[in-house]
Amino acid sequence: MTPSAQKSSLLLIYTGGTIGMKQDPDELTLRPFDFSQILEEVPEIRKFAFRIDSYTFDPLIDSSDVEPSLWQSLAELIQARYDDYDGFIILHGTDTMSYSASALSFMLDGLTKPVIFTGSQLPIGVPRTDGKENLISAVEIASAKDAEGHAKVPEVCICFDSLLMRGNRTTKVNAEVFRAFLSPNYPPLAEAGINIRYNDEAIRKPLDWYQRVSVNTSLDTRVAVLKLHPGMTPQAVRYFLCGPQTRAVILETYGSGNAPMKEWFLDIVREADAAGKIMVNVTQCLRGTVNMDLYANGKALEKAGVIPGYDATTESVLAKLFYLMGKSEDDKWVKAMMGRNLKGEISK
Ligand code: ASP
Repeated sequence: MTPSAQKSSLLLIYTGGTIGMKQDPDELTLRPFDFSQILEEVPEIRKFAFRIDSYTFDPLIDSSDVEPSLWQSLAELIQARYDDYDGFIILHGTDTMSYSASALSFMLDGLTKPVIFTGSQLPIGVPRTDGKENLISAVEIASAKDAEGHAKVPEVCICFDSLLMRGNRTTKVNAEVFRAFLSPNYPPLAEAGINIRYNDEAIRKPLDWYQRVSVNTSLDTRVAVLKLHPGMTPQAVRYFLCGPQTRAVILETYGSGNAPMKEWFLDIVREADAAGKIMVNVTQCLRGTVNMDLYANGKALEKAGVIPGYDATTESVLAKLFYLMGKSEDDKWVKAMMGRNLKGEISK
C-alpha cells in the first residue's frame, strides 16, 4: 500500500439493490436489509488502513424504483461531504445503475475525486456472491492515488466484475452472469486482476485539481424514448413524438441511425420538429455509432430535424437531456450541447 493510500478516507453510500438484500422468509422475495450487516459480511474492507464511513439512504430501494430525486440527493450528499473524503462509493441496484451513473456524471462538475457505483448480481450474504469482490475492488480503486497524490480515477464510474468503466458509457447487458455491464464503445478505465491495471490514457483528468466541485440538481425530465420496430403505427409514433408533455424524444433507431422512409413516419417527425421537439438519434445496436449520412433513411431523419446521438448509450443521452434541459429553456442551445462531448460520453 502506498503512503498516500494509507491516508485515504472513503464514504460508502448505500441506496439499496441486490448487494444488500436478503430473502423475506414469508414471501420468499428479496428485500433490502440494514447496511451495517454488509460490513459484517465483508470484514475484509475493515482491513484497509483507511477510514471508511457509511451513509444509508432511507428507504432502501430496489433500483427499479430510482427517480431523479435520488440523483439529486446523491449529488447534494457528495457535494456536502466532498472535502471530508478522498472518494465515494455508491452501492446501488444493477437495474438502473447505468442511468444513475450517467446522471451523476453530468450533475457533478469539476470532479477531482472518484465516485464509483457498484452492486452485485447475488446478495452479499450468499456464498457465491459477486458483491464482495465488487465492493473490495471499488474500495481499492476509490482510494488509489497517483505519484502526486491525485486520485487515479477522478470520474463517475461503475466497478463491476473486475472492470472499472466510465459510468456514462455503460449499459446493463446481462441479468444472469456476473458480467452484468459493458462499456461497448469505450475501453475500461481499469481492470482488477492480480493487480489493478489502470488504463491511464482513457481516464479523464481535471484541468485544475484544486477546483471546487459544483452540482447541478435542476433536471427537466420531459423526455420520451421510442424504440423503432417493424409494424409501428402512426398513432403510437405521434403519441411519443408530438405529446404535449414531451420536450425531447430519443429515437432508438436501426443500425447506423436508420428509420423507415415511409412518408407518414417522416411527416410525423417533421410535425414534431415544427412543434419544437428535440429529437436525438441513438442506435439500437450495442456497439457502433449513429451516422446519418450513410444511408438515405438516416439522411431523411436528419433533414427532418433529428440530431445524432453518436455512439452514446440511451442511458447517457437521457441523462444528458435531463441535465441540459434543466439548465436552459433554449432548445437551440440544448441541441448544440448534445453534440459536444461534455463528460466523455461520446467519442468526439
Ligand atoms: N432489482 C435489483 C436492483 O436493481 C437488481 C440488482 O441490484 O442487481 O435493485
